Formats: sequence, C-alpha cells, structure tokens
Amino acid sequence: MQQTETARQAVPPSGLSPSRAGDFLTCPLLYRLRVIDKLPEPPSQAATRGTLVHAVLERLFDHPAGERTPQRALELLRPQWERLLGERPELAELFPGADGGGAGEAAEQLARWLADAEKLLAQWFRLEDPTRLEPVERELYVETVLDSGLKLRGYIDRVDVAPTGEVRLVDYKTGRAPSRDFEGKAMFQMKFYALVVWRWKGVLPKRLQLVYLGGGGDVVSYDPDEADLRSVERKLLALWETIGRAVATGEFPATRNRLCDWCDHQASCPEFGGTPPPYPLPITGLPPQKTVTSMTSKES
Ligand code: SF4
Repeated sequence: MQQTETARQAVPPSGLSPSRAGDFLTCPLLYRLRVIDKLPEPPSQAATRGTLVHAVLERLFDHPAGERTPQRALELLRPQWERLLGERPELAELFPGADGGGAGEAAEQLARWLADAEKLLAQWFRLEDPTRLEPVERELYVETVLDSGLKLRGYIDRVDVAPTGEVRLVDYKTGRAPSRDFEGKAMFQMKFYALVVWRWKGVLPKRLQLVYLGGGGDVVSYDPDEADLRSVERKLLALWETIGRAVATGEFPATRNRLCDWCDHQASCPEFGGTPPPYPLPITGLPPQKTVTSMTSKES
C-alpha cells in the first residue's frame, strides 16, 4: 500500500534548492527518497526549534525598532509555537501530553525545549542589534529559471538594503558555526541565493551573511563577485546534469556520511541493511558521463 502510494506521488525533480542540492552531494539515495519517492520524515525537536526561532526573528521586525528587545522576542516564543502547532498538528507528537500545560515529563521536556530556544534568541541579540536593522524582506521566496531551463529556488531569511543601495542576504543557523574546513560548504547556500537574486533581479548582492546562534555564536560573511556566481552557476548546471542521469537510470547510490546517524531512511538504505522501495519513475537509461562529487572546491 505504501509503495503504491509512493509510486503514484512520484514525479521527476523540477529544479534545485540549496538543501536538495546538498542532499544529492551528501548521498544520492537520500536525495531520491526525499525528492522522488517523497518518503515521509517525522518532525524532530531540533528542526522544529529552528523553525520556531526563525519565526520569532521574522515576527520581531513587525514591531517598531525601539520595541525589538530580548523581552519582546521571548514574549513571541509561546504564541509562535502555538501558531506552528495550529498549522502543523503533527508537531504535537514531539511532546505528547504536554498540551494541557500541567506537570509531567512531556511538559518538562517542552519547557526545556523552549528554554533552549530562548538561549538561541539571547545569542542572536549578542550578534546583531535589531533596533538598527530595517529588513526590506523576511522569509523571501526566490526563484529563477536559468537560460539552460534549470529552475533554482529557495527561501532567504532576511534581505537588508543599505541607504547606499547595497544588498545583504542573511541566513540564520540554529546550529554552531562549522570549522574552517566546512565554512565554504555552508557559504555555498548563500552563493546559490546570490545567484538567484542576481539572475532574477539583475542585482549582485554585496554581502552574504550567515548568523550562527548555536555554540558560542558567530557571524560569517562573504562578499561575492560576478566570477564567483558564474562559477556557482556552472557547478549547478553540472550537478543538474548528474541528477538527470541518475533520474534516467534510477541509480542513486547510498553514500555513508556523518549525517547517517540522524537519517530517517535507514530502513530503506542498503548501508544499514534496508532496501529502497522500487524505483517509481520510468528508466530511460542515458549513458553515464562525468560525475559531480563536490560543489565546494576552489570557489568556496
Ligand atoms: S542512512 Fe546515510 S547512506 Fe543511507 S540514505 Fe541516509 S544518508 Fe544515505
């Protein structure tokens, strides 16, 4: 039954987002199970906390500059959690029985989880001063179609424009900052967004900024130039070609990586003794050509 439903829903991928591009580069099977088979993934406390903190940071800018205080951010936390629960009732599974607001283990877990979200918000106020910011966009959906026909899309957490017209793209991360070795990989996502904005609006963002709220907190910035973004475009086109060959052949190898421990699809993964569902798309069988294995060398 599950397989039949999966096959009915399966459609070939229609474009790229930074997250799904990252999935394919990390593990092609993970990409297939998420994008093509669309296997469900249960909500996680960590990801949901990230969504909640993002929602509070977005809504905080509804208030006049002088009212964007740490206290106001904390006051937004509970109402935003309740709004999320209303939109996605399945999130209640994270803390079963905690909705009554009484005592008990689930209620304590929820309280600890909210306290962790409070710490992330407090960290943000140490890194940025929202009374001095006037974003022109928050949670901006961006999409563009390259000349090749490849569609790129994603959400940018915040867009700031300086009085002199320079554009800054900002993304919040609720995890800790990566080591120097992985900084380029993280910034790749921002270059992806910069390329979309450039191709979409004809504006080259002046600065890309990642704001890490986990660990000791950190802000990582990068000023891209046209050559950078052209290089990202070439790499995305090569990646899209590689994905197209995988779609045509049904070959999406499982690739063990440091995120396997958190992968929801171990039961469908040969690396963990599982079996993927039958491939749900027609196999047209293009001959294999060059393969993209990394997006971050040199340009990152
Ligand atoms: S468990 Fe690891 S190797 Fe298997 S699908 Fe998930 S990410 Fe890929």
